[in-house]
Amino acid sequence: MEIETHIPSLVRILGQVAIIVYAYSWVIRIVERGALKSLAVGLLFGLGGILSMSDPIRWMPGVFHDGRSILLVLAPIYGGPIGTAVAALMMGLFRFAAGGIGAVGGVVGIVIVALTGYFLTLLPRQWVGMGWRRSALYGLATATSLIVLVFLPPTVAHELFFSATLPVMTANILGVLLLSDLLERERYRIGIQRALENEASVDPLTKLPNRRVLQREGDRCSKEAGTRDTPFSIIMLDIDHFKKINDTWGHSFGDTVLAQVADVIRQTVRKTDIAARYGGEEIVVLLPSTSASSATMVAEKIRRDIEAMVLTFDRDAVHVTVSIGLACSHSPTSDFKHVLEAADKALYRAKAGGRNRVELSEAA
Ligand code: GH3
Ligand code: MG
Ligand code: MG
Repeated sequence: MEIETHIPSLVRILGQVAIIVYAYSWVIRIVERGALKSLAVGLLFGLGGILSMSDPIRWMPGVFHDGRSILLVLAPIYGGPIGTAVAALMMGLFRFAAGGIGAVGGVVGIVIVALTGYFLTLLPRQWVGMGWRRSALYGLATATSLIVLVFLPPTVAHELFFSATLPVMTANILGVLLLSDLLERERYRIGIQRALENEASVDPLTKLPNRRVLQREGDRCSKEAGTRDTPFSIIMLDIDHFKKINDTWGHSFGDTVLAQVADVIRQTVRKTDIAARYGGEEIVVLLPSTSASSATMVAEKIRRDIEAMVLTFDRDAVHVTVSIGLACSHSPTSDFKHVLEAADKALYRAKAGGRNRVELSEAA
């Protein structure tokens, strides 16, 4: 084998690997989890396999090899059973349509390698190992693709077995090691990025978005309201006599109350509304495209639901109430800060007026 004749092939393979890794990273950034993610990864692996099959490496006269087994054996790790089935179906149909004496064997090989990869994912983790050990095992598992030889005329199969097994298996094992290392890095990187984004935007106690998100979304919402000429509303809520709750039943029970209040709000608001933890025990709800009268109904419902909520501490039944200030952007030019300030003033009036009530701001 002359090495220099294979250099362009290796460069081509690296290009294919880069495309697959880049596309995988893109897919998992867009679709986080579930069947849709498996389907998307399956489509990607299927397309990758077809790309590789249409551009095989010619190791020696009559011996062609492509990356389908590498992708198929790894498909169950990244795409689960759905993704594996999709990838195998795509590659199988493509191989069958390509025809030739190896068509039936090729399709059988595709199914066998996919099943082997899937079987490996069912084995206990301590058997399979992690990192390069796992990759090496998956690489070795691509040997099941040699089943293709059974479907070839004996003389051809015999010759191929002795001439092709070593280069094909070496390439498969190295391919699985390289591709799984890159995909694993990408998965890890995106997982970390997602966790950091989550940490920077979600309040750990109430699981509500934090003030930073509220500010960003508020600015976006007021801009949109200006261009569409539709009003938006803001609800600002503060738990009544929360200090007393902390003092009487302890800070940790206070935390539970706060989390429960957040749950009630989450259940009441629409998907398009943004409820955020604004301060200690203050929660702000941003309601895009909502008039003052609709927002008042939402605020009243939140107030009533919280009033009706009964929490227990030992045998004590604990009731909490909230005061709510509400403001609506009457003019298309009123910005988020302005409406928020108006809601804050209305909240102050709700407190001064005896608490457990909703006050609507006239301004903003
Ligand atoms: P008011 O009806 O006037 O609102 O009375 P209040 O006692 O609720 O007064 P204020 O809103 O000023 O008190 C806020 C208290 O909330 C003070 C602080 O100890 C408590 N707090 C703030 N953040 C948290 C938290 O994360 N957990 C708990 N348990 N308490 C908190
Ligand atoms: Mg309070
Ligand atoms: Mg407060």
